[in-house]
Amino acid sequence: MAFKLQYIDKMPQIQNAYASYGTHCHSILERWAKGELMSFELADVYIAEYDEAVKEYFPPFPRGLAGKYYDEGLQYFKTFDGFGDQYDILSVEDKFELNIRGNRFVGIADLILRDRNTGQITVIDHKSKSMQSLKKKLFENTRQLYTYAAYVKERFGEYPSMLRFNMFRYGKFVDEPFSMERYTETMDWIERTIDGIRTDKDWLVSSSGYFCKFICSTRDHCPIGQEIIHSNERSTPA
Ligand code: SF4
Repeated sequence: MAFKLQYIDKMPQIQNAYASYGTHCHSILERWAKGELMSFELADVYIAEYDEAVKEYFPPFPRGLAGKYYDEGLQYFKTFDGFGDQYDILSVEDKFELNIRGNRFVGIADLILRDRNTGQITVIDHKSKSMQSLKKKLFENTRQLYTYAAYVKERFGEYPSMLRFNMFRYGKFVDEPFSMERYTETMDWIERTIDGIRTDKDWLVSSSGYFCKFICSTRDHCPIGQEIIHSNERSTPA
């Protein structure tokens, strides 16, 4: 349902704290990668711009989310030391448009690096989501990086050797060595999914009330989202 409201009906969207937080951290990493900020400046910029960048409230539970996210981001930028001295930066926040089996496909590749010793390419996606939610659906999440691999092939003439999630709140990478089998599976999945969207008449609704209430950007235009928000208001004691 959210896909329909967002991309087909083009309803106005509302932002949420998770998305604003992710955008803030992406923006700092982008400016670093473009040479506009030095590593030692990142923590100060993170602090100085935070309130303006993240204006929404985090959900009230689990408790302490806002402070936890803030502290984890600050810790990351305080200790940030790049992505490895052996890499040259090939592109930063590269908006691309691809033709995947006859379908127009757009995306943004956060960071593409080339190892100057081996010549191999690594694609990096900065992620603010939890490690638990990434790993719970790692197979599905990794498809995003395989679409970036298609772009790397088109632009640089070769597939990347490494697909990497930069889980910056944890200061850790989650890596997937490129697999042609997985690449083909992803292209098949994209084709099936786009065909499904074109013929879909019964838009599924989310099974997560938490997502509907706090995260969905089109919840103001969805009867399910409105019902969840207002039923909670009705059940909240005065
Ligand atoms: S409020 Fe829930 S059901 Fe409605 S569009 Fe958003 S995620 Fe889907």
